[in-house]
Amino acid sequence: MKNVVTRFAPSPTGYIHIGNVRSAIYPYLVARQNNGKMILRIEDTDRGRYVEGATELIEDTLKWLGLDWDEGPLVGGPNEPYFQSERREIYLEWAKKLMDAGRAYADPTPEEKIDEYRHECNEKKVPFLYRNFRPENPPKWEPGMPIRFKTIPKSYDWHDEVMGDMHTGPEVLDDIILIKKDGYPTYNFAHIVDDAEMGVTHVMRGVEYLSSTPNYLALYEALELSRPLLISLPHILAPTGNKKLGKRDGAKSVTEYRDDGVLPEAMLNYLACLGWNDGTEQEIYTKDELVEKFSIERIQNSGARYDETKLLWMNGQWIRRIFDEQGARALYDRTVNFWPEEAASYPEEYRVKVLSIIYDRLKTMSDLKTMTGYFFTEPEIDVTAIVENKFLKKMSEAEIESLLKTAIQKLSDVKEWTEDKLQVALNELLEETGKKPAELFSLIRIAVSFAPFSPALNLTLVVLGREVSLARLNAVARSI
Ligand code: GLU
Repeated sequence: MKNVVTRFAPSPTGYIHIGNVRSAIYPYLVARQNNGKMILRIEDTDRGRYVEGATELIEDTLKWLGLDWDEGPLVGGPNEPYFQSERREIYLEWAKKLMDAGRAYADPTPEEKIDEYRHECNEKKVPFLYRNFRPENPPKWEPGMPIRFKTIPKSYDWHDEVMGDMHTGPEVLDDIILIKKDGYPTYNFAHIVDDAEMGVTHVMRGVEYLSSTPNYLALYEALELSRPLLISLPHILAPTGNKKLGKRDGAKSVTEYRDDGVLPEAMLNYLACLGWNDGTEQEIYTKDELVEKFSIERIQNSGARYDETKLLWMNGQWIRRIFDEQGARALYDRTVNFWPEEAASYPEEYRVKVLSIIYDRLKTMSDLKTMTGYFFTEPEIDVTAIVENKFLKKMSEAEIESLLKTAIQKLSDVKEWTEDKLQVALNELLEETGKKPAELFSLIRIAVSFAPFSPALNLTLVVLGREVSLARLNAVARSI
């Protein structure tokens, strides 16, 4: 397809909720796949809901996810401005054209009157349609007067690329407001004008706009515009029940996940695959693979359930992938903000070593804070943690002490403090003491870390170093 133009058109009403990001990811993938253009447009006409700083948050979120845009805030473009609040004259011009053509009218009816009409309909138990009450002789438009569309009630058939063939009757068409009395356009009107002016070919947005689509189709017709492709994205559902994912369901903003140590690759991967698959078993996709494989036809038409456990699993997969493909250093560069405070006084190479033995246990990078403390701080000796350990509690304290001393003796004899030499010594210790790995290794592991788990014991000892490891073992032996 030629000249594909897609857009992400968020309203700056707060942080980007995880459920909304797909409306940015899919248009991005379609644009890149077709060598087309992706536009970022800020729909800030609802001044009551406007939140200061929300636009910057949107920009940061997109940048962090690696979703760049070809036109819009920060980058500019031929259709400037990209903030709807700055395009009011454009909408007014289009609305005036509709008024001149007899397809829109100025409406001075006060709110109270409209409420009466609504009330009347409720009493009669008939649907309230403003077109049944439209003023007979609308005045000439003046600033401060809303402008309404003069609809022609009829049936519509259209195709939604995800929802399939749609049909509605005339009862859903109404005289929708185009320009509000504050001079700002409604979403209903502004997006039609902008999509047309900006040459948008694919309108991808949440399914909540599906029910208003007949009114949009009526506007395309009245404005003699060809319809873009209409692509409704089903809701993302809360982890349980049948409702849309909301802030109350524990869904965080994208930036909160970033701050918790989720990688953008994982977030993009997870969200792209929430309600889309390429028909194979593949689960891990790079951005380039998504661009290559994404297809609108394979977007599911039912809601996709949000599952944070899956997101964190995927993040773990991505942490390993970056380590395996780009190396410890590259992964380290992504973790700098996530270490325990005390780590700052240790050389970078030491932190890279710690990361190299622990990365495959991380779900998020902030796990580093909780999982690596003993590499940077002397752990507090807690004898009960040893004597009550599930593998050690069968032994008496005297037995434990003697086992620990034997271990210290053996490890002190290891001259070359390497992974292999330590493994040999540990294996010999098992044979010589007749203990099970769970017993012997738990004892040494706890004595050097006092952490619930640690990486492979020989690796932990190598990274801690000979001196620290033996000093910690001796200190524990003295305390039992
Ligand atoms: N401003 C609308 C929203 O944030 C966008 C809908 C659309 O993409 O057209 O929901």
